[in-house]
Amino acid sequence: MVILDICIMTIAEQLTKIKNSLNEDTTLVAVSKTKPVSDIMEAYGAGHHDFGENKVQELCDKHPELPDDIRWHFIGHLQRNKVKYIVPFVHLIHGVDSLRLLKEVNKRALQNDVVVNCLLQIHIAEEATKYGLDLDELMQILSPDCLGKMSGVRVKGLMGMATNTDDVGQVRKEFESLRQTYDQCLKIDVANWQPEILSMGMSGDFPIALECGSNMVRIGSAIFGARNQH
Ligand SMILES: *Cc1c(COP(=O)(O)O)cnc(C)c1O
Repeated sequence: MVILDICIMTIAEQLTKIKNSLNEDTTLVAVSKTKPVSDIMEAYGAGHHDFGENKVQELCDKHPELPDDIRWHFIGHLQRNKVKYIVPFVHLIHGVDSLRLLKEVNKRALQNDVVVNCLLQIHIAEEATKYGLDLDELMQILSPDCLGKMSGVRVKGLMGMATNTDDVGQVRKEFESLRQTYDQCLKIDVANWQPEILSMGMSGDFPIALECGSNMVRIGSAIFGARNQH
């Protein structure tokens, strides 16, 4: 007789399994987009405090219903007219992909008397659809005359998304290019460029990202299960 050993793990178990596979210096952002508050509470109950959302409306709906010591990561494409809603409480904005957006974050931060932590999103994928800065734009931003004059923001590092493909070599090449860009930028001397974070890797590709030097992974479906909506 064949016995099928079907193992259904809870959110807390999946989270713990992934956390145990990461080293101490790596931050796990549990991507809770489209998932209910009860799922987030289950992960929170297991001691997890970093959660990622990609829609401003959804984040602003969930935030007041959940504990204050959650660190909210905004990981999606952020529209300038919505920056004001998240600036008062967001922990880290991962997807700053234009100078105009960074300027808006700076402006709203100054109005709220806060300093907002950001990552600059770099375009590394083949797909033209993925957002991000190119190298010239990055270098232009990371200059004393540009970022150096924006006291409402602190840029903590870089973020990138690899092409969605089964070609592991391709994904690795893209993550490595981001790592090289990050390394090159480490020596740039601007007071509010404080590089500590290289955010790359999702459920499907995080082991490769970690091999390429990521220290922050954004993982959704491998913790909370597949999503129906997008
Ligand atoms: C949805 C999303 C993730 C997580 O994706 P999974 O494949 O579910 O792990 C990571 N990063 C960004 C920017 C996302 O939008």
